[in-house]
Amino acid sequence: MTERGYYGQFGGSFIPEILVATFEELVQAFEQAKADPGFWDSYVRLMGNYSGRPTPLTYAENLTEHFGGARIYIKREDLNHTGAHKANNVMGQGLLVKRMGKSRVIAETGAGQHGVATATMAAKFGFDCTIYMGEVDIQRQRPNVFWMEQLGATVVPVTEGTRTLKDAINEAFRDWVSAMDDTHYVLGTACGPHPFPEMVTWFQSIIGREARNQVLEETGRLPARIYACVGGGSNAMGIFSGFLDDDVELIGVEAGGRGLETGAHATRLASDDASLGVAQGYKTFFLQDDDGQMKETHSVAAGLDYVGVSPILSHLKASGRVRFTAATDEEVVEALSLSIRKEGLIPALESAHGFVQAFKEAPELSRDDVIVINQSGRGDKDIFTVADALEDPSWRKFIRDKAEEYDAH
Ligand SMILES: *Cc1c(COP(=O)(O)O)cnc(C)c1O
Repeated sequence: MTERGYYGQFGGSFIPEILVATFEELVQAFEQAKADPGFWDSYVRLMGNYSGRPTPLTYAENLTEHFGGARIYIKREDLNHTGAHKANNVMGQGLLVKRMGKSRVIAETGAGQHGVATATMAAKFGFDCTIYMGEVDIQRQRPNVFWMEQLGATVVPVTEGTRTLKDAINEAFRDWVSAMDDTHYVLGTACGPHPFPEMVTWFQSIIGREARNQVLEETGRLPARIYACVGGGSNAMGIFSGFLDDDVELIGVEAGGRGLETGAHATRLASDDASLGVAQGYKTFFLQDDDGQMKETHSVAAGLDYVGVSPILSHLKASGRVRFTAATDEEVVEALSLSIRKEGLIPALESAHGFVQAFKEAPELSRDDVIVINQSGRGDKDIFTVADALEDPSWRKFIRDKAEEYDAH
C-alpha cells in the first residue's frame, strides 16, 4: 500500500460525506488492533476453539499419482465452522466490533454464505443482526435464508434494481448511514472502501501463515505454485499473503462460466472484458458497459459471480506478481467429480475453480515440486447444483417426489 488505502492506482475510499467519520473510527480501531499483538492472539485462540484452526494441509496422494507430476497439497478451509474461509473474516470483524463497543452488525449477501457466517458470528457475540439480500437471491437460496433466520438474524429482501448482490450492498450502506453509532457493516470480501480490502486480507492471512509453516514442516520446501479461486478475492489474498515475499508462483482462478467467448462469465482479471472504474466505494476492474452500467455475470459457483474484484489483486496483476486464469463451469464440475472420487474431498464449486488450473499444470511439474490448492469451502451446500449438473436421475426423482409430497398437503 502506498498512499492510504491505495494499491498502485487501485483501491481508495469513495464514500458519502456522512460516512467519513464512521470510516475514520473503523480505520483507527483496525490500526490499533493490528498494532496490538494481544488482539491477533485472541483472534487465533477464538478461531482455534470455535472454528477448528489451524486447518490441515492435506497431501492429495491419489491425485498426485493420477497426474504424475507435482505433489499436490490442499489447504482445508472447508473445515472451518460454517464450511468456508468466510468464518475467518466475520469472526475477526466480530472481535473488532466488540472492541469498538458496538452492538449491531449488518451485512450484504449474494449466495447467502456470507450472511450465514455473519449471523453465526452475531449469535456467538450477542449482536443484533440484519442481512440485506436481493429478492431474487432469496428465492434461489432458501436453505441459507432459513439458517440466517434460525440464527436470529433479520433478513431484509431488497427489491431495488436487479434484486441481487449489488443492490443488497447499496441497501446495507443506506442502513449504515442511518445507524452509524451502534452498527458495524461486516463487508464480506477484500473489496469496498479502505480499510476493508486491507482488513479482510489481514484476517484471512491466517490461511497463508498456517499454510507456509505447514508446507515447510511437511515437505521441507516452499511450494512452486499456489492456486486459489477468485470471487471478491478474500480467500486468494488470505493464502497468497503468506507467500508474497517468496519465490512462489501465485495463480488466481476466476469464473469462466459458459466460456469467455459467450460473455456469460465473471472474469475481471483473466480476460479483457472488465474495465477500470469506481463503484461501491472503490476503484478496480469492473465488468461494466461503456456507460458504467454493471453487466450480468454468470458462474456455476454463486460465490464467484461478482462484478468487481479486490483492488489488491488488481494491483498484484498490474505488477505481475499474480497470474490470472479462468475455469469454465464444465471443467469445474469435472474437477469436482475427480476430487470426490480420488480423495473423498468435496470442494465447493467455487474452490473447484482452483483445482481445475492445478490439475492442468501438475503434469508439467516434477515430483520434486510441491503445489498447494486452497480449498476455500466445502461442497455439500452445492448438492442442488452439482446433482443437476451430473444429471443424476435418482436425485431428480427425489426432488419431484418432495414437491408432490408438499402439494398433497
Ligand atoms: C464466498 C466464497 C468464495 C469467494 O469469495 P472470495 O472473497 O473470492 O474468497 C470462494 N469460495 C467459497 C467457498 C466461498 O464461500
